[in-house]
Amino acid sequence: MRIQRVLRAAFGLDHAVVEGFDYDEAAEAIVISVRPVANQRNRCGRCGRRSPAYDRGSGRRRWRGLDLGTCRVLVEAPAPRVNCPTHGPTVAALPWARHDVGHTRDFDDQAAWLAVHVSKSAVVELLRVAWRTVGAIVARVGADIDARVDRLEGLGRIGIDEISYKRGHRYLTIVVDHDTGRLVWAAPGRDNAALEGFFDALGPERAARITHVSSDMARSIVSVVAARAPGALHCADPFHVVAWATEALDVERRRAWNEAAGRRRVDMASRSRWQRSSGQAAQFKKARYALWKNPENLTTHQRHQLEWVEKTDPRLWRAYLLKEGLRYAVALKGDEGKVALDCWLDWARRCQIPAFVELSHKIVDHREAVEAMLDSRLSNGLVESTNTKIRLLTRVAFGFHGPAPLIALAMLALGGHRPDLPGRGRSAAAPSGRFAPSGLGLK
Ligand SMILES: [Zn+2]
Repeated sequence: MRIQRVLRAAFGLDHAVVEGFDYDEAAEAIVISVRPVANQRNRCGRCGRRSPAYDRGSGRRRWRGLDLGTCRVLVEAPAPRVNCPTHGPTVAALPWARHDVGHTRDFDDQAAWLAVHVSKSAVVELLRVAWRTVGAIVARVGADIDARVDRLEGLGRIGIDEISYKRGHRYLTIVVDHDTGRLVWAAPGRDNAALEGFFDALGPERAARITHVSSDMARSIVSVVAARAPGALHCADPFHVVAWATEALDVERRRAWNEAAGRRRVDMASRSRWQRSSGQAAQFKKARYALWKNPENLTTHQRHQLEWVEKTDPRLWRAYLLKEGLRYAVALKGDEGKVALDCWLDWARRCQIPAFVELSHKIVDHREAVEAMLDSRLSNGLVESTNTKIRLLTRVAFGFHGPAPLIALAMLALGGHRPDLPGRGRSAAAPSGRFAPSGLGLK
């Protein structure tokens, strides 16, 4: 029947027999009744193995499918149980949906694709589902991709980073591939155990093929890498080295701000009684972004703010030049970078700005890793951009349940294997009678 073929093609009901369809007034939805084709029946929902029938389960069930125009669509079918030799009584596999979920595969795929490509509110309004449901969908679509893609194959130069994803000190440990630019692994936590999990998944053979590891040189990362990938050269990450200087500069900026406002060091408890900063102090506060930004990205107004800092607070101005000096040495790389770094260390040691004196000690402590960074010429952009993008995703993932959907979303968006749009590729395998107008590239 032609209508069967149309419905199967439109709603991803391959391997299903359409028994009928109707409009359900109460559910305000079109209901398509189906059953799996013979060779897809009586398979375990977990492993797909053919198994003897067990019972009728909880009777007929409905799955939310892709909308037809503006109308919701429900796919309805019996959901019997089978007795799998491995898994025991289990709901039978059904070709149009993932195991034990209330949406069709096409619906899941479209929701995951949208979650990666458009805003949160657009997904929720368009699909008429709760954001938390989208989180669960993203997690299972991600798990499907993980099952067929080995992300850890061929790793040579990796970057390891820790990113806070929630106030209250919740962290993700992430691993990026410097050669492909992809996010290859992420897990909750920032302790040794989190990173050990990566090396467990990698295995000793592939760990031995890792040549370079870049990180922020946190002690936990350094010790795990030394133990699990002893052949790899540990490089400081250029992004984090520049971030150290930015932090030191910010200590100075706060000092200038407090001095301008006539404040002394006060304990945290009395902080709430501080007055709104005015005049000069406010200027220092506003100059924050100008001080942080790379000079080539400054707006005219921010350039004026820096000129103002130069005239008003020479010490803060020196701190700014120190930050820029370190950024310059890092950008030079190679032997030139090392010469510039030596000059910078001389300067920083004698600068009499405590935050930068401290920073010079830190860099001397990590000298070997900083020089390895200059030699290896690992890019600054990758870890920085991954860091920024995951920070954005953590805001998008707010409302998801737990870290798993956030990790799945990050892997879908940054892992190099995006979810497919439902029906993509189906046109190539379309049934012969499919209407194919000329001029649309369909042949
Ligand atoms: Zn099974």
